[in-house]
Amino acid sequence: MTPMSKDLSQTKWHGIPRTEIPWFPTVDAQKCIGCELCFVTCGRDVYEIEAGPPRKARVERPYNCMVGCSTCAVVCPTGAITFPPRDLIAKLEREYKIFDIVRKEAAEKRTKQQVAHARERAEEELRKVHTHARIEIAGEFGEKAFLAKLADKVKGKPFDIVNLKLEVPTVKGLLEKTPAYMSFEITSTDQTDVGAFLDEIRALVRQNGLVWVRDTYK
Ligand code: SF4
Ligand code: SF4
Repeated sequence: MTPMSKDLSQTKWHGIPRTEIPWFPTVDAQKCIGCELCFVTCGRDVYEIEAGPPRKARVERPYNCMVGCSTCAVVCPTGAITFPPRDLIAKLEREYKIFDIVRKEAAEKRTKQQVAHARERAEEELRKVHTHARIEIAGEFGEKAFLAKLADKVKGKPFDIVNLKLEVPTVKGLLEKTPAYMSFEITSTDQTDVGAFLDEIRALVRQNGLVWVRDTYK
């Protein structure tokens, strides 16, 4: 057994011990040309390829075979792979009365699907929430106490303003109404979308005669 391969012989198929279901491939060594297509195709590690020469496919883990699958036989270029007749499976289904178990499995599958869909929807909604935005504004900040007004805006709200930078050509210039440039980031402190709060800041900027240069809210 290769280090990566698993032995599934102890598992059950809808309640039937897997070893009681003789569904697995048989390789006719005379017909096998060692092309390895079955080995590559099978996702359940049923096959190994003998080193040879001549190279031949060998059924190494028969009970790993998925009951009802016959893909490897379909793709084998020489028809070297065969399976038992299909009605063997239908006979076992009747004998073991598997359909009560199948219905329970179907219900479990539906529940898992619903949970997965609900999670996907929740994640999708979360992706639409923007909890952060960077703002750049420009204008005359000198006598407007704009910082104090910004501080008032965040009071009692689930938002904060961080990384604030004011770039002024000169301090005297600031008092003499030379235009300056300010950037800051709005972050939510509880995963709330910052969009509505951004509108409040935008209005504040407008009321103070400043210019909204750009923001990263999309
Ligand atoms: S696909 Fe067929 S011919 Fe190719 S290795 Fe498998 S059994 Fe042999
Ligand atoms: S029938 Fe399917 S599961 Fe079984 S050995 Fe072939 S490819 Fe693998």
